[in-house]
Amino acid sequence: MELYELGIKQAQEGLAKGEFTCEDITKSVIARYHERNAEIGAYLTFDEEQALALARANPKAVPIAVKDLINVAGQPCTCASKILKGYVSPYDATVIKNMKAAGFIPAGRVNMDEFAMGSSTENSGLGVTRNPYDLSRVPGGSSGGSAAAVGGNMCIAALGTDTGGSIRQPASFCNCVGVKPSYGRVSRYGVTAFASSLDQVGPMAKSVEDAAILLKALAGHDEMDGTTPKDPVPDYAASLAGASMKGVRIGIAKEYFDVKGMDPEVKRITDEAVRKCEAAGAELVEVSLPHTEYAMAVYYIIAPAEASANLARFDGVRYGHRSDAAKDVFSLYTKSRAEGFGPEVKRRIIMGTYVLSSGYYDAYYGRAQKVRTLIKRDFDAAFEKCDALLTPCAPTPAFRIGELQDPLTMYLNDLFTIPSSLAGVCASSVPAGFTNDTKLPVGVQFICGGFEEEKLLRISRAFEEIG
Ligand code: GLN
Repeated sequence: MELYELGIKQAQEGLAKGEFTCEDITKSVIARYHERNAEIGAYLTFDEEQALALARANPKAVPIAVKDLINVAGQPCTCASKILKGYVSPYDATVIKNMKAAGFIPAGRVNMDEFAMGSSTENSGLGVTRNPYDLSRVPGGSSGGSAAAVGGNMCIAALGTDTGGSIRQPASFCNCVGVKPSYGRVSRYGVTAFASSLDQVGPMAKSVEDAAILLKALAGHDEMDGTTPKDPVPDYAASLAGASMKGVRIGIAKEYFDVKGMDPEVKRITDEAVRKCEAAGAELVEVSLPHTEYAMAVYYIIAPAEASANLARFDGVRYGHRSDAAKDVFSLYTKSRAEGFGPEVKRRIIMGTYVLSSGYYDAYYGRAQKVRTLIKRDFDAAFEKCDALLTPCAPTPAFRIGELQDPLTMYLNDLFTIPSSLAGVCASSVPAGFTNDTKLPVGVQFICGGFEEEKLLRISRAFEEIG
C-alpha cells in the first residue's frame, strides 16, 4: 500500500508507531500529484516547498488538501476566479489554525466552481477537474477538486465548503464521506464568503471515522466569528464506538422520494439503503417536510443576495485583477469586474442585486426569509419524530462534462441538499453503492438537527458498516 492511499486514522496510527513521518506521507502525496494531476486536475496549485517544510516541522502531522477559497498564509487563494489570480493570503483562516493545532498541515490547493457557485466544478475560471471514476464526467461541485482528490487517492483527506450542497453532492459523485456541519459549528473566519448565512467548512474523507477526526479539529468557538457558540466540541471519533442502527428512528420524507427527474439507479440505491437500515434494526418513520418544494426558489434568492453583497469587495482596488483599460475610478470597478468574474458569478450578482433592490426587496428577499423559517420549522417538526432523515444526496450520479448546459438544470442538482442548508442543520453524504450500468458511485444523505453532529456521525458510521 502506498502512503497516499491512507486515511487519516491509518496515517495517525502509523505516525504514532514511527512507521513513517509526515514528510514521507507528503512526499508520497506529491508523487501521486505528479502522476495523476495532469489527467484529473484536482489541484490548482501545490506549493511543494511549503508543504514539505511544514511536514518537517511537524513530523507527526497529517497533510490535508485545502479548497481554494480558504486562506493559508503565504498561499494563493483564488476561489478559482480570474479576479483573484495572483492574490496571496496574508493570514491563516481559523480552520487552518485549528487544524494545525490538532496535528494537520495544509498541503495543496484544490479546484472548485468559481466562488463556490456551481455543482460540477465546470464554473472554475482556472481549470477542468475530472471525476476519478470516469474521466469523461464531472466530480460534482462546488468542492469538486476536494472530492476528486479524495476519491482519486490524491490526498489523505480534504477540506470542502458547503453552502447548498457543495460538500455532499461531490462526495456522492466521487465515493467520499462528506459532512456539512450545522451553521455555526465551524468558524468562517478566513473563508472567502459566498452566502454568509449558509456557508460552512467541512471534512471530505475516505471514511466516517476520518471525517469525525477532522471535524473535531475544525470545529469550535472563534472570537472572529460571532455565529460560533462556546459549547464544547464533542470527541466525535470517540463517540463512534459501538455505533449501530439498532433502535435508530430513520425518517423517510416523501418529498425526497417521489421526485421527477430522479435517476432510476439513484432511486434503487437509496431504496436499498433504506432497507439495509431497517434490516440492521432501525425503525422507519414516515415524516413530511411540506415546504421542501419552495427551498430551491428561496435559496436562489437568499444566496445570490448575500453573494452580491459579499462580492462587492472585488473591485480592482484592493485584491487581484485590475483592468488595464480603466480610465477613471468608475471604469476601474466595472472593467475589472467584467474582466475578472466568470458568467455564473455575474449571473448570481445580477440576480442578487435585483432581489435586494428597493421595490423588490419585500417581494423577494423579505418573503424568501419568511419561507426559510417555514422550512426550518419543517425540520424541527420532523426531528420530533425521528433521529435522522435518510434521503438521496443528489438526483443523479456524476454527469458528463458539458452535459448540463442550462443553469436551471444545474441548480436542480442541489434539490436534496439545499433545504437542510437553509435550516442550518447538519448533514452527511455516505457512499451507498455503484450504478449497475455505468459503475459510478452514489451516496446517500443523512440529516440530523442543529449541533447533532455526534448523532449524525454515529448513524453515518453504522450505515458505512452495512452499506
Ligand atoms: N450548487 C449550489 C450553488 O451553485 C451550492 C453551492 C455550494 O454549496 N457552495 O449555489
